[in-house]
Amino acid sequence: MAERTVLVINSGSSSLKFQLLQPDSGITRARGVIGEIGEPSGRAADHEEALRLAFHQLAEDGIDLKSSGLLAVGHRVVHGGSDFYRPTLLDDERIAELEKLSELAPLHNPPALQGIKVARKLLPDVAHIAVFDTAFFHHLPAAAATYAMNRELAERYRIRRYGFHGTSHRYVSEQAAAFLGASPDSLNQIVLHLGNGASASAIAGGRPVDTSMGLTPLEGLVMGTRSGDIDPGVISYLWRSANMDVEAIESMLNNRSGVWGLAGERDFRRLHAMIESGDSSAQLAYDVFIHRLRKYIGAYLAVLGHTDVLTFTAGIGENDAVVRRDAVTGLEELGIVLDEGRNQSKSKGAQRISADHSPIAVLVVPTDEELAIARDCAELLAS
Ligand code: ADP
Repeated sequence: MAERTVLVINSGSSSLKFQLLQPDSGITRARGVIGEIGEPSGRAADHEEALRLAFHQLAEDGIDLKSSGLLAVGHRVVHGGSDFYRPTLLDDERIAELEKLSELAPLHNPPALQGIKVARKLLPDVAHIAVFDTAFFHHLPAAAATYAMNRELAERYRIRRYGFHGTSHRYVSEQAAAFLGASPDSLNQIVLHLGNGASASAIAGGRPVDTSMGLTPLEGLVMGTRSGDIDPGVISYLWRSANMDVEAIESMLNNRSGVWGLAGERDFRRLHAMIESGDSSAQLAYDVFIHRLRKYIGAYLAVLGHTDVLTFTAGIGENDAVVRRDAVTGLEELGIVLDEGRNQSKSKGAQRISADHSPIAVLVVPTDEELAIARDCAELLAS
């Protein structure tokens, strides 16, 4: 009998990523991205066509979903609001509840819902399960989750710090503990997820105690195109003085800020090349990115009091040794001693990049959100 599989779908506004994997062995059978959905240059006019193309691609790879032992379709959903924090079996009622949440996450949840609807239509006989990016941070301590703003207003509009990339922070912290041969309960960890989106978390004994993203994934670290932390006064100032409406300001902070907003480039490989060639905007963008990252490392060392392990993950965290070095250089007195030789070595799996005598172990651990989602699905169906 074929080993059971889960199809994981990550449906964004203009792209649909899919991956078929075996939750037990962790083996990926197939994966792909249908990009530029709805754009003139793209292959798919909408999400339904994108998913049909994905199935077509799977068929071309010789995979028939029906006979592949397909157990479930796992959907990555960015925002779970206050109510959704466990993997959730989707039916019409749950989907209607999820739709109401789109107000909290207008940029992120509607495309996921579209993905869910078309996948249920095309694969009606299999379980569809939503896994939320906010879930891991649901029980953040109140002191970390609460904004110091008018309480009545915050409660009415469910304004709190939700945190995102939770699937990655949980998976990576568990992998880091496994690498060290320890139980997650016995470690205090800082996880730095540095991709196009970037976030940091502080995890004490397996439970997150702070994270850098907030009501939306805009808060915190400097990202590829997102500003991260910014004085909210900037928003009212732009609204009043630059004649920008709320959509224009939101779009500028999400899509035309961050490293790209400062340097006109968001990919760190090209950013380094620009710096090499003397581009001062690229240098400034890099310096602002590193400065903010170091601020969060310092903050989380203080939040945790005692830290056992600091882990880099995601596209930049896993591949960019220069960023890793610059993030922690000079922090020896705080317990972080990098081994530059180890930091430079390129290995595919988890590795330690700190010196043996470093009080805090510094690791690089590849993230795998799809595998974590597939395992959540299998676990839910087994329960
Ligand atoms: P996301 O999933 O948030 O879109 P990723 O985790 O895939 O992002 O990270 C993508 C980013 O990782 C790229 O934009 C690039 O900046 C960075 N990156 C990928 N590979 C490398 C590399 N070899 N060196 C430096 N940066 C890299």
